[in-house]
Amino acid sequence: MKKTKLNKAFKCQACGECCKVDGYIHVTKGDIKNIATYMKLSIETFRDKYVLWVKAVGRVLPGGVRSSCIFFEKGKCAIYKARPVQCRTFPYWDMIKKDKKEWKYAKTYCPGCTDLKELYLEAK
Ligand code: SF4
Ligand code: SF4
Repeated sequence: MKKTKLNKAFKCQACGECCKVDGYIHVTKGDIKNIATYMKLSIETFRDKYVLWVKAVGRVLPGGVRSSCIFFEKGKCAIYKARPVQCRTFPYWDMIKKDKKEWKYAKTYCPGCTDLKELYLEAK
């Protein structure tokens, strides 16, 4: 793969479309701790209530697949300050970097992506 750098021109327009798109919302152990703390819940309570284990996928939040994320409320993320790494780093995902089809797909729902030709630029 050619050397690339991020196209920093990407600007999130806070439309919330990525919270409604069909797909798993992965949570790391660190995400679980952060969100539980943010919600003033114990890690165990948060895990019991909000974390699912999906075979071959891992830990995910409920919703996401064929529905909006469970934390998408009134057009906004209810846990924005503690949102998972996956949400913080979109659209700069390896999956999108490696697969042009994924980039094309992101452009179908994310207006911030539509504004850009490429998400990664060739490094000089
Ligand atoms: S779909 Fe794109 S522009 Fe809209 S909130 Fe998500 S990242 Fe931001
Ligand atoms: S956690 Fe927040 S930012 Fe992430 S998908 Fe859910 S509502 Fe959107």
